[in-house]
Amino acid sequence: MFKVVNKRYLANNIWLVDVEAPNVAKSCLPGQFVIVRLDDKAERVPLTICDYDREKETITLVYQSVGASTKRMEKEDDNGYKDVVGPLGQPSELCLMPKEELAKEKILFMAGGVGTAPVYPQVKWLKENGYEADVIVGARTKDLLILEEEMKQWATNLYIATDDGSYGFKGNVNDCLKDLLANHGKEYTRVVAIGPMIMMKFVCLTTKELGIPTIVSMNPIMVDGTGMCGACRLSVGDKIKFACVDGPEFDGHLINFDEAMNRQRMYKTEEGRKILKVQE
Ligand code: NAD
Repeated sequence: MFKVVNKRYLANNIWLVDVEAPNVAKSCLPGQFVIVRLDDKAERVPLTICDYDREKETITLVYQSVGASTKRMEKEDDNGYKDVVGPLGQPSELCLMPKEELAKEKILFMAGGVGTAPVYPQVKWLKENGYEADVIVGARTKDLLILEEEMKQWATNLYIATDDGSYGFKGNVNDCLKDLLANHGKEYTRVVAIGPMIMMKFVCLTTKELGIPTIVSMNPIMVDGTGMCGACRLSVGDKIKFACVDGPEFDGHLINFDEAMNRQRMYKTEEGRKILKVQE
């Protein structure tokens, strides 16, 4: 078993867990993910690595208990996980960039809701390696905001945006970006947007118009995580890519978001049936 050594409630059914996973903790980089299973019969759940401690040999995962499997995890993962497979996927493009190129970038991260978790390790990695990055964290309302204090430690400037204006800027992350550019003299050469697909779609429409290269992290339905099943396929420009092995990060201006969102919706009914079974 992979032991859960710390578990903390963040907000809105969102949980943070530190899991002992020495091999993953030793080699993972920001942007990569793991697939966890509670037991032999459990569903495989892909989760982006939110943080890692190479000395303590732990990784930090954040999940929202919305589906049948995550609802089970919420109740049962104090006992640990049967499997933690990873690190899977490609590390963030920023971590692999030549240093002199990265030093020239003016980076803005745009995190939406639970998407704040995968943004966090990238911002931390940049700061630890001597690079600056601004961050916008968006939430529907103040109570749903996660990882604000943690993010403050590493972000050069942290901007909070709430849809209802209960805290920070009033509006979504896209409105906040437009405000920073128009009214606060900000300039960015690269945006990294991670959150709901609809958010990433609209951020990309804006940044395409502005000519700012934009990286997104895609989380389509995934099964094996090793490129075998093809469930997580995406149209990226004129190519078919698998989020699990080619991503999860891609050039957001090349993603066909409408197709990706349609594919995600196809499984909604099945998921609903499964939740009812778990609740029975
Ligand atoms: P949410 O719906 O509460 O939205 C969070 C924020 O995203 C909003 O406050 C707003 O600032 C922004 N946003 C949402 N819709 C937007 C739009 N149309 N235009 C501009 N900005 C918009 O988010 P949530 O409920 O926390 O998100 C859950 C979703 O995020 C799930 O679908 C989950 O799968 C996805 N997610 C994605 C990743 C990833 O790696 N891409 C990681 C974790 C979660």
